[in-house]
Order: sequence, then structure tokens, then C-alpha cells
Amino acid sequence: MDVEVKRASKSYHSSGGKAVEALSAIDLTISSGEFVCLLGPSGCGKSTLLKLIAGIETASSGAVICAGEVVVGPSTGRGFIFQDYSLFPWLTVRQNIAFGLQRGKGTKREKRELAEHYIRLFELEEAAGLYPKQLSGGMSQRVAIARALCLQPKLLLMDEPFAALDAMLRQKLQEELVRIWQRENATFVFVTHDVEEAIFLADRIIVMSPRPGAVSAIVPVQLPRP
Ligand code: ADP
Ligand code: ADP
Repeated sequence: MDVEVKRASKSYHSSGGKAVEALSAIDLTISSGEFVCLLGPSGCGKSTLLKLIAGIETASSGAVICAGEVVVGPSTGRGFIFQDYSLFPWLTVRQNIAFGLQRGKGTKREKRELAEHYIRLFELEEAAGLYPKQLSGGMSQRVAIARALCLQPKLLLMDEPFAALDAMLRQKLQEELVRIWQRENATFVFVTHDVEEAIFLADRIIVMSPRPGAVSAIVPVQLPRP
């Protein structure tokens, strides 16, 4: 799924009534099948841009177009992974992963098999009956990624999904993510403030600068795949 962001701006109104401009006239194109990282310091508007693409937030002006359609709200074709996992605490790992499938197409059996496929892929077999509070951070993040991928989104948006993990686990999941991307034929957009993470993951790094009037710069980088 390709993404086009056209002159998109976003202002938030704080409780004091003052407007905070989080994004200012951003132009951006992401091609179908790309793995793009949005890189920039904290507060420069990365999360906001990702939420506009997801349809979780609405642009104050300008537009976001995904696969030729103007984004007006969230959709299952666009998966979103939050930094804090956002798992359902009252559901087991298996139920969390299968949750979004309920409303989708396919038979009960097909859905169960799809959920089991992702449980195996993320080596969550032994944890499948556990509840989120019984999981480590790395496990929780695996479940969150599996839950998103289970819906087979054409576009996967990830907001610093590995920020809470220790360095070893982070590296392992980074490697898993690249393998998944190579297999799934989807567009991945990954927000990070970690330069090394962006270089390891991305086909292309989009650098966002917090300077007024120079909010965004785009730096294409050619990386050989291992
Ligand atoms: P980043 O993801 O790069 O850290 P954000 O998109 O979270 O940046 O935030 C960009 C700016 O917008 C920051 O100044 C932040 O405080 C502000 N902001 C983000 N979300 C809100 C909100 N819901 N209400 C008010 N201000 C917000
Ligand atoms: P990030 O890790 O992307 O920098 P933040 O910690 O800035 O995220 O924001 C966490 C959440 O709080 C987000 O949903 C964001 O929209 C919201 N938020 C950020 N800044 C503000 C703010 N100044 N006022 C209200 N909500 C905010």
C-alpha cells in the first residue's frame, strides 16, 4: 500500500487553549513494499505523522492518501503497533492474537489456523495460554506484533515498538522484523529516535527535524541486504 502525505499540518490544542504545531506542511511519499524509518529527536512530530497515516488523528490541513483513497479514519488494512503494546489484559496471548480476526472474512477454522501460524512464527506456543501481566516486555512486544500481522495489513505502522526492550532482545526482534517484511510483501513504516536502529531496518530513512521552517528532510539511503 503506497502512502502520500500532502502538505499535512497538525496543531494540538493544549488545556491552556494554546495551539501547539506538531507538524507543519509535511510532504511525503512512501512506495508500496518499502520499509521506511521516520527518524528524529523526541517531540519532532514522528508519532503525530504516524497517527495521521493511521487515521487515528486528523490533519488540521492537507491530506493523507493511502492506496489512492483519502484517509478519514482507522482501517484494518493499516495496522498500528504502539510503543506500550496495548494488549488486552483480560485476554490470553492466543486470544489477543486472534482478536482482530473475529470480524474478518474466512471460516472459524481458517482463522484459528492463521492465529496458530503467527503463534508459531513468534515462538509463543508455550505462552499462548498466559495473560499479558504474566509476560516479559519482549514477549509482550512479540504478541503485539503478531496480533497486528495476523490481520495481514498491507501497511504496518510502528511507533517505537522496541523502545522498552533491552539491547539483546531489541536486536533479535529487529532481525525478525526484517525477515517478516521480506516475506509479507507489505509496506512497513517504523518510527524511531535511534539512528542505528533506523540504519539497520530501513530501505529509506526519512529524517524529521524540529527546526521551525525545516520540519522535514528526506534522505534516501542505499543499503545492501544481508
Ligand atoms: P515525537 O513522536 O517525535 O516524539 P509527537 O508527534 O509525539 O513527537 O509530538 C510532537 C509535538 O506535539 C510535541 O511538542 C508534543 O508535545 C505535541 N503533542 C503530541 N500529541 C499531543 C496531544 N495529544 N496534545 C497536545 N500536544 C501534543
Ligand atoms: P513519543 O514516545 O512518541 O514521544 P509522547 O510521550 O510524546 O510519545 O506521547 C505519548 C502520548 O501522549 C501520545 O498519544 C501523544 O499524542 C500524547 N501527548 C504527547 N504530548 C502531549 C501533550 N503535550 N499534551 C497532551 N498529550 C500529549
